[in-house]
Amino acid sequence: MKGVNVKSLEDRLMVATYSRYPITVVRGRGATVWDLEGRAYIDLMGGYGVALVGHCHPKVVEAVKRQAETLMVCHPTLYSEIRAELIEKLIRIAPSGLGRVYLCSSGAESVEAAIKMAGRFTGKRKLVSAMGGFHGKTLGALSVTWNPRYRKPFQHLLIDTVEFVPYGNLDRAVEAVDDETMAFIIEPIQGEGGVKVPPDDYLKGLKDLCEDRGALLIVDEVQTGLGRTGVMWACQRWGVKPDIMCVAKGLAGGIPIGATLAREDVALSLKRGEHTSTFGGNPVACAAASAVIDVLLEEGLPGRADRLGRLFKRELESLRQGHRVVRDVRGFGLMLGVELRFDVREVLLEALNRGIIMLYSGRNVLRFLPPLVIEGSQILEALKVLDETLTWFEARVKPKPK
Ligand SMILES: *Cc1c(COP(=O)(O)O)cnc(C)c1O
Repeated sequence: MKGVNVKSLEDRLMVATYSRYPITVVRGRGATVWDLEGRAYIDLMGGYGVALVGHCHPKVVEAVKRQAETLMVCHPTLYSEIRAELIEKLIRIAPSGLGRVYLCSSGAESVEAAIKMAGRFTGKRKLVSAMGGFHGKTLGALSVTWNPRYRKPFQHLLIDTVEFVPYGNLDRAVEAVDDETMAFIIEPIQGEGGVKVPPDDYLKGLKDLCEDRGALLIVDEVQTGLGRTGVMWACQRWGVKPDIMCVAKGLAGGIPIGATLAREDVALSLKRGEHTSTFGGNPVACAAASAVIDVLLEEGLPGRADRLGRLFKRELESLRQGHRVVRDVRGFGLMLGVELRFDVREVLLEALNRGIIMLYSGRNVLRFLPPLVIEGSQILEALKVLDETLTWFEARVKPKPK
């Protein structure tokens, strides 16, 4: 199918809710993808973090092939070897205290399950979330997602007992969490909200606060988890044990999956029939996820993310020295953000022309979520292009200092 054809078909027939980049991707390997014309791109978007172990990692591909030939359907009503294998591995790598797993097919669904568990366990109805927080777009998850652009058109359909507090501000959290609060939901580092890192005492403070008021701490590791930030779970950087933890994105190497891990007592408050999913624990997704966990551990990818992240961040810092449009550089491991003084859209499109796929978060932050298997040389090459693109951009705009 010709490229023009693909674009016109998708533009005509698909729900028009995605902002689009004008390339058609046909193949991927590691941190590289190729378009219809055979042109290679360095993929710093990584499918929004889904290509965690790289595109088409051979071990994941092999596991998917093997499972697809063996058994593709096994509703959780029936037992499955590969599902048992996966949940055992998940619990083994999870922060201590999380003893049960609910499997589903997306990040938003993992948040839905977390909210239902917290509500059921505590019998309470109030939720507290952070400004800038992103937890997905199904109605329950959307209720705790902050961006008014996503939330306002559906306000009449949402949970109406959610309070938003400024991210990173413990005093405001203390004011918001009361005896009616079922849970505080938080990203250890905000992704969609602009790669925001909280103060060091924040997560621990939230955990103590929740414990004190009889609320639960839901840590959303959908974007930050599985080694992305240079440690297996970002909350471990601050020594925090969640009561409930949400995982998805890269867990199955690109096959749809989500997982809600919870304290045993919290998870078991949900009774038979109270929360299920037809696709939850699908054998192919489980086989892929089991292989992804093996790859993360065998290839030491969290450590690699830490090392490469330091290199990446150092180079970004030097970009900041050379470019007035760069306001800030932040993040950990291979979850990094560069805040510009301007809308990043033109920079994104120009970098794409030059062979680099990047992501944005909000209007003025460039976000980097490359596969953890990316080569150091690819990072340096991509940053050379970004350097040139920023120079190009600065020649076009007349910076008005804000
Ligand atoms: C992407 C994301 C979600 C939602 O995941 P979907 O699979 O798109 O539903 C939830 N929380 C965080 C932190 C995310 O980054």
